Amino acid sequence: MDVYVDKPKCTGCQHCKDVCPVAVFEMRSRKDLAASNADNAPPEMRWDGKPHEDIHAKWANVSDGHKHYADDNDGTSGGLSVGVQGSACILCQACLIECEGECIHIIDDSGNKFVSIYK
Ligand code: SF4
Ligand code: SF4
Repeated sequence: MDVYVDKPKCTGCQHCKDVCPVAVFEMRSRKDLAASNADNAPPEMRWDGKPHEDIHAKWANVSDGHKHYADDNDGTSGGLSVGVQGSACILCQACLIECEGECIHIIDDSGNKFVSIYK
């Protein structure tokens, strides 16, 4: 299984990390990720410092306790999610229905693709 996040769409809500039973996701600093480009996502889905316009307009000013678009993660939200351990994914789909940015992509070993759709 390969799991990656379309970074410009990621709000930093941390729902994916919170619901994943097998620790596929880690939250990283937006600034560090832009500088290092250490990311498993395809090039067009890596973080270049520019959030997706429509997703940003939808979530930037939502006050629900999550630090949307904060540079750094504080243990509850903020930063950007990276799929660091896609091989552990059991395709439970929990992250796919919790992802605010609808930006998680999962490709199974047969090449089937799954994309998140916010519930
Ligand atoms: S589908 Fe995979 S990555 Fe998503 S929550 Fe389930 S195990 Fe984790
Ligand atoms: S659930 Fe989606 S939008 Fe939220 S941090 Fe994870 S990948 Fe980003």
